Amino acid sequence: MPSTTPDVMISAQGIHKAFGGNEVLRGVSLDLLRGEVVAVIGPSGSGKSTFLRCLNHLETIDRGNITIEGEALARSEGEGKAQYVDDAEIRRIGRKMGMVFQSFNLFPHLTVLENVIEAPIIVKGMKREQIVPKAEALLKKVGLLEKRDAYPNRLSGGQKQRVAIARALAMEPDILLFDEPTSALDPELTGEVLRTMRELAEEHMTMLVVTHEMGFAREVANRVIFMDGGHIVEQGPAETFFASPQHGRTKAFLHNML
Ligand code: ADP
Ligand code: MG
Repeated sequence: MPSTTPDVMISAQGIHKAFGGNEVLRGVSLDLLRGEVVAVIGPSGSGKSTFLRCLNHLETIDRGNITIEGEALARSEGEGKAQYVDDAEIRRIGRKMGMVFQSFNLFPHLTVLENVIEAPIIVKGMKREQIVPKAEALLKKVGLLEKRDAYPNRLSGGQKQRVAIARALAMEPDILLFDEPTSALDPELTGEVLRTMRELAEEHMTMLVVTHEMGFAREVANRVIFMDGGHIVEQGPAETFFASPQHGRTKAFLHNML
């Protein structure tokens, strides 16, 4: 059914986060819409990973509001400290999001298939016979069905990351968060992972992607966000962002990336 108001999948407003005296996020706001692919770029230490981790409740925020698909995860009254919903709600809301890390984080003692079916069985209580065909379809989708019985140490980095993507998808998230998914890979292996991500984008998966891959950001992302010093300095549609960056810091960053 056509809709004039797009669904807001993640709404983050005025997010503040400090580690000790180090204020890492200084009022970051983002609305991520259904089917949108947003690339987050910026120098090392600018708070990109922390922002993603706050959305996924791997870190707690000090102040601000986070709403996932219309459900509050954390909110602040005025300048007050953010209050979270209870733990069961946090877990339930958190399952709407899947995350893919730079370091893959596969279980080394489990085969590829077992890695993919583990969370659906343990967390969702799915039956093995229900999830195995689905996991096999996901492995086929990422081009790794023939590796279903291999252990992670037999895979290349690119293959490990594609398994990690299949594993995230097995939980049927509405949103996927990626934190530099290709940064740990040899250059010749980044393409296969980016191709998988591009296919997900074409299927209208909602994705928030921290990346150094400017080609991917330009070609696949609908919108690009540039973070520096715990702020969103500049953002815009991918075409205009790269063609005519406005801010000096954005220009300097893009210049260095070329
Ligand atoms: P980016 O992903 O953009 O490189 P990060 O979000 O990882 O940036 O880090 C931003 C800042 O927060 C850095 O100064 C980093 O040292 C600090 N930081 C991140 N995580 C922690 C933590 N768990 N404890 C203390 N400091 C942290
Ligand atoms: Mg990071």
